[in-house]
Parts: sequence; structure tokens; C-alpha cells
Amino acid sequence: MPEQSHLTVAIDGPAGAGKSTVARKVADALGYTYIDSGAMYRAVAWKSLAEGIPPDEENAVVEIAESIEIDFRRERGDQRVIADGLDITRMIRSQEVSHLASVASAIPGVRHAMVAAQQAMGRGGGVVMEGRDIGTVVFPGAEVKIFLTASSGERARRRYEELKGKGTEADLERIRAEMEERDLRDSTRAMSPLKPAPDAVPLDTDGLTAGQVAERILDLCRSRGA
Ligand code: C5P
Repeated sequence: MPEQSHLTVAIDGPAGAGKSTVARKVADALGYTYIDSGAMYRAVAWKSLAEGIPPDEENAVVEIAESIEIDFRRERGDQRVIADGLDITRMIRSQEVSHLASVASAIPGVRHAMVAAQQAMGRGGGVVMEGRDIGTVVFPGAEVKIFLTASSGERARRRYEELKGKGTEADLERIRAEMEERDLRDSTRAMSPLKPAPDAVPLDTDGLTAGQVAERILDLCRSRGA
């Protein structure tokens, strides 16, 4: 029996580039663990909101990031996000939490706590992790690094369709404006801004299906021994 490979696959890119769908497909095909690092920043934002802590009270937000217990659970093919024992999967997808997650993720102490937790979760490899700084900061030694992009019109349209599909009210122009605002903050923050690792493979997903994008990444994984 050949020894099973345990690569680390890092998928980064802006909001709506298709990271979650694609990362999940790649993880399933390889039998690897899928980790959505953005959900962890969202969990911190959600808890701050639930406790009435304004985002500019940075020390209090850092305390939450350092003490919150985040777990991912697989249920009937779905990934559930559990924070301090509570299933917050749906609650962290609101526009308010999206905005606050982006603000909280610019606080250095929050990033330190999340990066440490992500490194612990991915120790040993056999993991597909998606986010903004996975190939640059969390796993700079990852064997496979992908930087996914798509035009902002396409990214907003995908998020719009996703929300509509879940029966949530959505406004395309508003989604696009908020996405652009979030991308600007994510790419211009001082600590770990969104940018491709020098050795990341760029992949423009405009006009490609999630299945096609996943196949390209799988080809790359196989060429690296997966
Ligand atoms: O990926 P998602 O859009 O769910 O992430 C929510 C927010 O968390 C992003 O806008 C970004 O500010 C932050 N984030 C981050 N680093 C990551 C993942 C997400 O700063 N690795």
C-alpha cells in the first residue's frame, strides 16, 4: 500500500471568488479536512456582537478571540460552525457579521489568536484551508498554494445567487458595494493584508464552474503527490 499523502493545500482570495465551494470539493476528493478560516473571524465578530462589545474596544475583542472555542463539525455533508458549544453556522453569514469580521480581523491580537488556532488545526497536513493569509502567514510551507480571483461583478453575482438560493433577501448593488469595501479593507490593512504568496498559482475563475476550478486544483495536488 502506498503511504497516504498529507499535503497542506492553501486557497486564498477575495470575498466571493468561490473559495468555499472549491475548497470543499478539493477536500472531499482527496479525503482531507476542510477548514474555512473566515468562519473563525466571523465567530469572533458574532460573539463580540452578542456580548455588545463595539469593534473599537480592541482589547475586549482580542479577549474573545483568545478564549472562544471554535469547532467545525460535519453533518450530512454540511459543515457546521460551533462556537463555545453553540451552532452559529447560519448566524455568522449576516451582512452585519461580514462587516464586523473584516473590522475585527484587522486587529493584530485577533489575528495572532486565529492564526495559532488554524496552525493547530492543520498540523500534520491532509488539510485544505481557505482564507486570505493561508499561503502567506498560516502555512507558508504549504505544498499547494492557490490564489483565486474573479471580477467584482462576477463575485457579487455569485454571492447574490447564493443568498437567493437560501431564501435570503438580497440586493445585488448593495452586495457589490459592501464586497468592494471589505476587499479594500482586507487588502490594505497593516497586518497580513490579502495578497498572493509569491509562489501561489493564480487562478481566475470568471467563466469557470466550481467543478472545473476544483479539477485544476486537484491536478496540481496530484502533481505534488496527492
Ligand atoms: O472568507 P470570509 O468572507 O468568510 O471571511 C470573513 C472576513 O474574515 C474577511 O472579510 C476577512 O476580513 C477576514 N479573514 C481574514 N483572514 C482569513 C480569513 C478571513 O482576515 N484567513
